[in-house]
Amino acid sequence: MTDKKGVLVVLSGPSGCGKDTLLSKLVQRNDDVKVSISMTTRSPRGQEIDGVDYYFVTAEYFERKIEGGEMLEYANYAGNYYGTPKAPVDEMLGRGISVILEIEVQGAEKIRKAYPDAVTVFLMPPSLASLEKRLRSRGTEDEETISHRLFIAEQEIRRAGEYDYVVVNDDLDEAVADFETVINAEKMRLTRNKNIISEVINNV
Ligand code: 5GP
Repeated sequence: MTDKKGVLVVLSGPSGCGKDTLLSKLVQRNDDVKVSISMTTRSPRGQEIDGVDYYFVTAEYFERKIEGGEMLEYANYAGNYYGTPKAPVDEMLGRGISVILEIEVQGAEKIRKAYPDAVTVFLMPPSLASLEKRLRSRGTEDEETISHRLFIAEQEIRRAGEYDYVVVNDDLDEAVADFETVINAEKMRLTRNKNIISEVINNV
């Protein structure tokens, strides 16, 4: 309405909790919501495509981007760098597009400090057992990687209290609708619509 800037939304949740599936459904249904494409030094997994799922880069390239101040945030997760290139996010927010950063807890902490306006959402699996089942059924990781990711998952779930909202991913469609509700409510937050009162009063 008055303030056309998009909402910066952080979505975290343990590996295998369904973030990708939830986000692809969400963007299909909402033209004014986009997901930021992260950069990572990990290798592509399964059907992942460079420039679509991630920008897959070397550690040297990633470090140059950090030094050049081109990353909005970054973190080391399970032995690899992951980070958000800054320029596309700023550009989309400026066009009124809400941008979702699908990032882990350390990155979320950095965003919270640098962007107090950002909204943080934690996608919660219904149980650790269900998470383990999903990670195994994905069939893209070896046993050691799965147990490492499950270990990290428990640490991440313990930090869910730092987030503004929690969405439980038991039923996918319900989780998508819940996430949409959060974004829509945030768009209406009065602090994001500062000019609305004077506009309505002056436009008689
Ligand atoms: P995966 O290897 O399963 O794709 O991602 C591992 C973790 O890294 C997930 O929790 C994912 O949300 C997180 N992640 C992906 N991109 C970024 C990013 O740009 N920054 C940060 N901090 N974490 C990310």
